[in-house]
Amino acid sequence: MIDACSIETGGLISIEHALQQIAGTVVPINTCERVVLKSALGRVLSASVYASINIPPDQNSAMDGYAFSSTDIRPNQPFSLSLAGTSWAGAPYSETLKPGECIRIFTGAVIPEGADSVIMQEHIQADNTLIIFPESTQPHKHIRDIGCDTRKDALLLSANKKLTAIDIGLLASAGIYDVQVYRKLNIAFLSTGDELSPIGQMLQPGQIYDSNRYALNALLDDNTINITDLGVIGDDKSALEESLVAASKTHDVLISTGGASVGDADYIKEILDKCGEVSFWKIAIKPGKPLAFGKINHCYFWGLPGNPVSVITTFQKIVSPALRQLSGEQSAKKTLQIQATCRTALNKSQGRQEYQRGILTQDKSGEFFVASAGKQDSNIMSALSAANCYMVLAVECNGVAVGEKVTVEPFALLI
Ligand code: AMP
Ligand code: MG
Repeated sequence: MIDACSIETGGLISIEHALQQIAGTVVPINTCERVVLKSALGRVLSASVYASINIPPDQNSAMDGYAFSSTDIRPNQPFSLSLAGTSWAGAPYSETLKPGECIRIFTGAVIPEGADSVIMQEHIQADNTLIIFPESTQPHKHIRDIGCDTRKDALLLSANKKLTAIDIGLLASAGIYDVQVYRKLNIAFLSTGDELSPIGQMLQPGQIYDSNRYALNALLDDNTINITDLGVIGDDKSALEESLVAASKTHDVLISTGGASVGDADYIKEILDKCGEVSFWKIAIKPGKPLAFGKINHCYFWGLPGNPVSVITTFQKIVSPALRQLSGEQSAKKTLQIQATCRTALNKSQGRQEYQRGILTQDKSGEFFVASAGKQDSNIMSALSAANCYMVLAVECNGVAVGEKVTVEPFALLI
């Protein structure tokens, strides 16, 4: 299924090419369900949502003050109006204001018939039921018009939008009780390797803790995803084959880590050659060794490297955009990048695009600086954890000197 011609010179394909191939293969899910708004955070709309009411539905006051008619204003002189009543938020003044009258009004309270202006309470003087307005009184102030936020029938949110907390607030303001969203993705993941121990146990000689599965569990923590943790499968060809094939029948996506290179105990390639339509790529990025992508039955499969930093970076840069596409989310957003002055020299050889781990800071004048977060090997989780950004070094870059500008992707803006 994947074009063999995609293999570029040197057996490496560019990350752009890999992303294009994946985007051209992934077909977004099209099954939908309705969920109540309270459960809709992080779900992807499968239909656009329109306002069925004007927001706000009534003309109301933007201030605590007094509502009056602009026809009562006396040019260039103070004037007084008699206080006829009060409009509270939720308890409107039901009469029509007569000439010479004003009412007390609070923020959010409906403007009564006959009034078209509000003055802030700080600007008047009250003498019992006589309210004295200053010479500077302006007409038509502090009034929120009907539909000034959103008009009835206007588009609130487009289909394929992943709902944020702000979107939930917007939809609630329109009284939207429930929304139509795409169903969740079912994603299974596993680790491979005889050396791996689950956390919560003492390490035996030669063992390390299986950090990838816990990292993946956290990376997949998203309201568009139901996860299945398939655990650790040892370097055992038939056990691996059994797990992968069984999981592919009941999941949309399957992700493995480790066992994907060419060592004697690396069985992923062999199994997939037999059971799936999967290509093994050498992508010109670092970290990120050979990576497998394709399908087993109807299930998309990603075989990620074993080294923990490579797992996280390839997940963020390669798997995550595809999962967003699969979930129905609107087309790929470009990750925000900024330029920063490098405070440490960075080693790099030409040939691969590197995502080196950095610490980004901003000085008082607003200028950005970045420094290496530590050792850049793909097993060094402590440096990835200390980092707050990737320093993106282009394929042709052969190192960065102190004081040079580098492109930085802050983790907080990774999208
Ligand atoms: P592999 O691709 O299986 O040869 O693994 C490459 C490196 O990553 C080896 O040092 C493995 O021990 C390590 N590794 C593989 N899987 C995991 C895992 N789940 N957690 C932590 N390290 C791992
Ligand atoms: Mg291994």
